[in-house]
Amino acid sequence: MLLSRPVKRRLSLRLLAGLLLLVSGPLLAQEDPTEKDPAAAVVLTGSGTGSLVVSGSATPLGFGTTATGLLVELEPIVSRLGGRLDVGPLRQSYSLAIGETQLVVVPGSPAITSGTEIQPLSQPPGIVDGRLLVPLELLERSYGAQLGVTFTWDEARGILAVERPQQRELPVEVGLVHLQGVTTVVLQFPEAPRYRIVRSAGLYEVVLVGDRVVPPAAGPQVQDALVRGIEISPERIRLELAPDCAAESYTLQTPFRLVFDVFRETAPAAPAAPIVPRESARRAIRTVVIDPGHGGKETGAIGPAGSAEKELALLLSTALAARLEQTLGVRTVLTRTEDIDLALDERSALANQNKADLFLSIHLNSSVGRGAVGAETYFLSLQASDQRAADAAAVENYVGAAVAPAGSDDFELQLLLWDLAQSQHLAASQRLATLIQEELNRALDLRDRGVKQAPFRVLMGAAMPAVLVEVGFISTRDEEQRLRSPEYRAQLVETLVRAVGRFKLEYETGAGAAAGAP
Ligand SMILES: [Zn+2]
Repeated sequence: MLLSRPVKRRLSLRLLAGLLLLVSGPLLAQEDPTEKDPAAAVVLTGSGTGSLVVSGSATPLGFGTTATGLLVELEPIVSRLGGRLDVGPLRQSYSLAIGETQLVVVPGSPAITSGTEIQPLSQPPGIVDGRLLVPLELLERSYGAQLGVTFTWDEARGILAVERPQQRELPVEVGLVHLQGVTTVVLQFPEAPRYRIVRSAGLYEVVLVGDRVVPPAAGPQVQDALVRGIEISPERIRLELAPDCAAESYTLQTPFRLVFDVFRETAPAAPAAPIVPRESARRAIRTVVIDPGHGGKETGAIGPAGSAEKELALLLSTALAARLEQTLGVRTVLTRTEDIDLALDERSALANQNKADLFLSIHLNSSVGRGAVGAETYFLSLQASDQRAADAAAVENYVGAAVAPAGSDDFELQLLLWDLAQSQHLAASQRLATLIQEELNRALDLRDRGVKQAPFRVLMGAAMPAVLVEVGFISTRDEEQRLRSPEYRAQLVETLVRAVGRFKLEYETGAGAAAGAP
């Protein structure tokens, strides 16, 4: 990332401000709807009417300039290029639908959401005289990506030219993996192609827009229960699914990957049913992903008697998974079942792919000070709640040299975006952390070290309530001995099961604070 630190700090504050606006949406419903939202107000340094030029024909286009850059009126662009712009209730958000893609634009918020994906903008869209003005970036992210067009602003003449750029030939690599009932198809490109996704019964097509694909020399050999075949031509990539299967797609960057998670639909959806927002549809804890910390070369902390955190974490996690299935009837998925290397990002990605409703990362603590005892439960926050929490995050985030170190530009921006992904679950994550901590304190008579917040990388990408539990100090001789005993570990596991059970009940019945997440 090329942004300088001060710019990013500002960006981060504004992103969070914008986010609060999104999160607090329902709360604002009681306010006077005519009240002007100050966050949406834009300070223009100039404004005027220019023209929008598409295939040589011009139409008027309102624009404004701010200290950060150019904003253009969105509505004339939508009427020329197609798509639909809808205003949300209270005019606090707009949705822009282009083909199957829907973007949510919040005036005052320098980020747009597309599905569960959040993308930052260099400056927020705003309302001027009742018209929505947006930065060019937003047009590139929406129309550019969908139609393969580019936007060029001629400042001197006030002309926004929409053009179709040169076609690129992009080789594609296809990967396919089946895991726990989900087949993940990964299409990897050297750079992001322009495409749109077209769905019909049993068929997902990636239609290239303005670019062409170079198919791999040997076509992909597909032998999978959920994916019947993958066909690649320069114009399109076709995924044929087995009957009763559906897919969800998302993208990953560096290198650009378009990912499809294919799963069996339990009940066939009524074709004309309106799309139910995910959050309100999902009020049950069905799948719990348990992440045994560390593994492979990353041993984690080592106790005075030589116990490795990675081993004890795996023993605890495996037992926890089994007991959760037995007692709560939930499906559990372990991020690793063996002593293997696993990147932090892959752990939360696995939780997302498995549509987990909860993510628990299990660790053991270490301390340089002697005699530290007790458990600590963490949920994600940009800011550590205290120095000890900051240190714990620094220790857990350290994975050899494979990860951008905390403090690096890349790390900070990722952190920011991932924090946004996790933030809609913050209330629930905090509640889960509190319940776990309560149960651990009560059952095990551990010294209460409290619920803490810290920027744990493993929690960042998780799009569900997620916590990290440090169940004890492996660095303290007595505690290490206790943790080595299967009886004590069984006790720990039962305690965690009770906490998850309490959370599940609150979350599903809407009672208590676990239901507090929007
Ligand atoms: Zn750890």
